Amino acid sequence: MKNFQNNFIDGIGNTPLIKLIGASEITGCNIYGKAEYLNPGGSVKDRAALALIRDAEEKKLISKGGTIVEGTAGNTGIGLCLIGNSLGYKTVIVMNDNQTQEKKDTLINIGADLRLVPSKPYKDDGNFVKVAGRLAEEMRNSNNKGVVWANQFDNTANSKGHYETTGREIWEQTDGKIDAFICSSGTGGTISGISNALKEKNKDIKIYLSDPKGSCLYNFIKNGELKSDGSSITEGIGSSRVTKNFENAKIDDAYSVGDNEALPILYNLIEKEGLSLGTSCGINIAGAIRLGKELGPGHTIVTILCDKSDKYQTKLFNKEFLQGKNLPYPKWL
Ligand code: PMP
Repeated sequence: MKNFQNNFIDGIGNTPLIKLIGASEITGCNIYGKAEYLNPGGSVKDRAALALIRDAEEKKLISKGGTIVEGTAGNTGIGLCLIGNSLGYKTVIVMNDNQTQEKKDTLINIGADLRLVPSKPYKDDGNFVKVAGRLAEEMRNSNNKGVVWANQFDNTANSKGHYETTGREIWEQTDGKIDAFICSSGTGGTISGISNALKEKNKDIKIYLSDPKGSCLYNFIKNGELKSDGSSITEGIGSSRVTKNFENAKIDDAYSVGDNEALPILYNLIEKEGLSLGTSCGINIAGAIRLGKELGPGHTIVTILCDKSDKYQTKLFNKEFLQGKNLPYPKWL
């Protein structure tokens, strides 16, 4: 047998780098996207989900029949639920009700116990992360196999997972010939793990954050102030606070990217390169193009292709919704 995997978990990681042709041509650089949408749960967050579950197992917090509780924008929940199913864990997912219907349906269809809550700022007790933490606490005595709050924002097992896998893979796939890495941050796990893995190999590799409007992280990197302006239809990225995972990220500089800049890149990739990617990829690739222009021709830049467009159809391909927000839409709609 060839190219054989024993189970779902074996399929996580070792994703290819895909050359982004348009982005490379515009900048004269080699811009690659790490195709994280090829993970078996469909996103970069399979890696975090696996790292968080392994962490709980190593700490003997959970055994077969136990329950994982998590607050998530969706992708981590999908990863936790699918991995959980394959290992015999139940999953309770707390998610903001303003996330796409596609993600809610996926979670219900794969058997997660989905609890929707209204979107609230982190300082509010009703914030989805805090609700998940409290729920896990309340459920703790109900299951003697263990109830675990995965806590992806502040449990650094998340960034450690990316340090040990995603970051090292990028170094090896580029034979160490990488000048810069850029991506956005939700929990900060991806950028923290990858930045540490790459800087450890070569401290001169530039690490940039590509931050959506409405997030405070751009201003935090630029002047140490957690302040935001504008808003974004992207999901799973941006933050109003410095999480424990983001805290350890080694970031040189940042860009603030609007949906007006990111969406045409996504539509172009569908039309010209056959890549139909999720909203955060637009912010990441827009950032990679800016970075290519800043560094000048000849540089190798890597970013993350977190997931595909299928989870965002009701936003990305909804002409009325986009027109209502004064945003560009695909010309074929
Ligand atoms: N893109 C998407 C689509 C996501 O769901 C997430 C995670 N919420 C991210 C990017 C950000 O990844 P991280 O949490 O590792 O910062």
